[in-house]
Amino acid sequence: MEDCIFCKIIKGEIPSEKVYEDEEILAFKDIHPAAPVHILVIPKKHIATLLEISEQDSYLMGKMMQVIQKIAKDLGIEEKGFRLIANCGPDSGQEVMHIHFHLLAGRKMGPKIIS
Ligand code: AMP
Ligand code: ZN
Repeated sequence: MEDCIFCKIIKGEIPSEKVYEDEEILAFKDIHPAAPVHILVIPKKHIATLLEISEQDSYLMGKMMQVIQKIAKDLGIEEKGFRLIANCGPDSGQEVMHIHFHLLAGRKMGPKIIS
């Protein structure tokens, strides 16, 4: 997708601080961290929103969860824990139309995820 900033990050056209990469998945530091650890985990396949995930993407989505486990262990946050957020659509505030999970950790989170 030409105008997608996350596709540009995947292609290396925009720099990023990568924490994990394989053939299908990339994880990198959020440019505006909301917590001491704030990683974005994305599929390399351009999927605009969670509503566009198809049955064909089942393996990919499952693998993303396993990659998130691996990142949590590699960063040493698996014991204290983390929060995983995925925005979808205008009310959620989704800004980048390429699905991504926000992996947040390194501080005590508030009791509510809404603001
Ligand atoms: P969302 O509001 O869920 O679409 O989140 C998009 C996230 O992408 C925000 O937290 C931004 O800070 C982050 N972001 C936007 N551009 C970049 C970039 N070039 N590198 C890293 N993170 C980015
Ligand atoms: Zn994209």
